[in-house]
Amino acid sequence: MSGYGASDALSLVDFISAKDVLAFASAGVETVADVLDRLPKRYEDRQRFDVFPVQAGGGPVCLRGMVVDTQVQRFGGRKQFFEAIVSEANGGAFLPNKVTCRWFNMPWMKSMLAEGHEVVMFGKPKDYQGRMVMDHPDFEIVGESDNVSIHLERIVPIYRGVAGIAQRRLREYTYKLLVGVDRSSVAPAYDIDPSYPRHEALRELHFPDSLAQAEAARRYFALEEFFALQLSVVWKRARVREHHGRVMGRKTSLLTAFYHSLPFDLTEAQKRSIKEVIADMRSPFPMSRLLQGDVGSGKTFVAMCAMLLAVESGVQAALMAPTQILAEQHYLTFRKWLDPLGIRVSLRTGSRQEDTHDKLEGAAQMVIGTHALLYEGVEFNELGFVVIDEQHKFGVGQRAMLIRQGVMPDVLVMTATPIPRTLTLTLYGDLDVSLLDERPEGRGEVVTALRKKPKVTDISQFIKGQLKEGRQAYLVYPLVEESDHLKVEAATVEYEKWVKRLSGFKVGLLHGKLPPEEKDAVMTEFRDGGLDVLVATTVIEVGVDVPNANLMVIHHAERFGLAQLHQLRGRIGRGAHKSYCILTTDGKSADAMEKLEVLVGTSDGFQIAEADLRLRGPGDVLGMEQSGLANLRFVEFLADMELIREARACAEKVLEDDPHLEKHPALLKLIHDGDVEVG
Ligand code: ADP
Ligand code: MG
Repeated sequence: MSGYGASDALSLVDFISAKDVLAFASAGVETVADVLDRLPKRYEDRQRFDVFPVQAGGGPVCLRGMVVDTQVQRFGGRKQFFEAIVSEANGGAFLPNKVTCRWFNMPWMKSMLAEGHEVVMFGKPKDYQGRMVMDHPDFEIVGESDNVSIHLERIVPIYRGVAGIAQRRLREYTYKLLVGVDRSSVAPAYDIDPSYPRHEALRELHFPDSLAQAEAARRYFALEEFFALQLSVVWKRARVREHHGRVMGRKTSLLTAFYHSLPFDLTEAQKRSIKEVIADMRSPFPMSRLLQGDVGSGKTFVAMCAMLLAVESGVQAALMAPTQILAEQHYLTFRKWLDPLGIRVSLRTGSRQEDTHDKLEGAAQMVIGTHALLYEGVEFNELGFVVIDEQHKFGVGQRAMLIRQGVMPDVLVMTATPIPRTLTLTLYGDLDVSLLDERPEGRGEVVTALRKKPKVTDISQFIKGQLKEGRQAYLVYPLVEESDHLKVEAATVEYEKWVKRLSGFKVGLLHGKLPPEEKDAVMTEFRDGGLDVLVATTVIEVGVDVPNANLMVIHHAERFGLAQLHQLRGRIGRGAHKSYCILTTDGKSADAMEKLEVLVGTSDGFQIAEADLRLRGPGDVLGMEQSGLANLRFVEFLADMELIREARACAEKVLEDDPHLEKHPALLKLIHDGDVEVG
């Protein structure tokens, strides 16, 4: 075989017809490497076919048989479907089992399948009027080719289709290119595992001898992909550390005074995180740290401590929150704790500017605000420390903009969205991570109950009981407007009903379509006790702190994601009272019940995040869409901690030995091509 280079255009390959080159091109497949990089979407083990099903149910099956009859059937007037009856090949003369395969509205099928064809069918069998039927199975005619060895009697790759090229032709091209490609042209940019040559891994990815071998090959390429990802984050981190930051945090008298003023002890997790932050501040590198902790775990206090250290080092500190109400809440908290220490704190939001230091000499030492901090001509004064709260609500660009207001400020990003550690390493791989994995003491217990179709009277009885005790409640609904189709009560409609059911109590309504000022007004009224009950959509999700609210009823809980439910539930259990979260559901879906049971079983955000990853798969887990991670070829390995650790360790080692990748131009190119841009 003459060798082809991986980067050769397909038009240079003599066994690919010009027509197929065009078909490939319209699927974005241009080069030899593009073909070899197309992953099989699944494999069929054609060494051992499934036995013909005699019972419906269960998963898909892969059958080998012979077409014994075909016909076009009509239904519903002008519509038609094509059916092929496939019989067991070795069923013997005595009543072989048969399966009817049907294709609806695909008239061209009759020219593709005919009596006598030997076929492989892959699909889900079901019972239709006493016959075993498979609708729209994947199929392939086999046994007539001279190259049987790649289509039969082995594990066979099945690819995502390329319009105009049949599955078996795709397989043949891939096979021939694997044989003909010049091995050195498919060598890796960096050889992570010299004992497993890449051309071999490629062969085993497409034509494995066993499913275990296919899995090993997939792991090889997953490692390659995650290594590239880790290389780019470790590189980014190294570039940040090339800059000199300020050495801060030597003087601690403010911090000590603050500690002494607290009526409670910090949790061990808070102390540990503060130590980690201090170590960063004292080092000559600019800090970039992620503080991860469940709602209510006390992140604000960690931020306050760090900001006090910064202030005592003579720089200004800023905190950016995602909404007006959160900025104001932080501002009030800061003033409550820091006024006694004489710290000058300012608030800057779109609609409010306020300074505590009207009466105090000097410029603000701490500035708290929304993204107005970025735009409204706020003048910073030696900004040396930046805290970004609830970072996933900000774009990466906004984060960068605030950071640029200072000269290499230390940065602390806080997030209340626990994500599994593998995701943290991948998404925030350039940040150091501190965890608040402990709840402060003195919080009431939160009881979570799952109720299938509960009676409204029971629920409202329970709510009234809590309200009479002086507590407040959230009633959460999934959608704003009524939708016939989804049959989901909407907050606006339900609000009217609750006003009647709970007469004598004050009920408010909060949803995403309200203008921001109104939203803030309603929320403020609830916070200040003017409302007993808030009927709401998920707009209450972020950071609102009303310790007196101890009851939350989430209607149609099955319609929310786990992460979202966890965030919602975090609104209660903030005070000393026992709290109740009631999840109501129609109970129709077993998957949904399993999901909701997770919440009943634990309140640990990380466990919930991991369950979420397991149940939904990484492709759907929060933040992925914006993060670009959904484009990974091997997304399923995101949950594989060992693999990600290995990729990380390998990237760190490469950059330790060769910090500027002078000896690895291929890797440098990989980074600069930026196809692994994350975060
Ligand atoms: P987060 O920002 O992580 O949601 P906060 O910092 O707002 O949490 O703290 C939530 C509540 O817990 C606040 O009312 C705060 O006063 C209180 N709190 C924080 N740390 C402690 C602690 N160590 N002990 C007791 N209460 C605490
Ligand atoms: Mg907070």
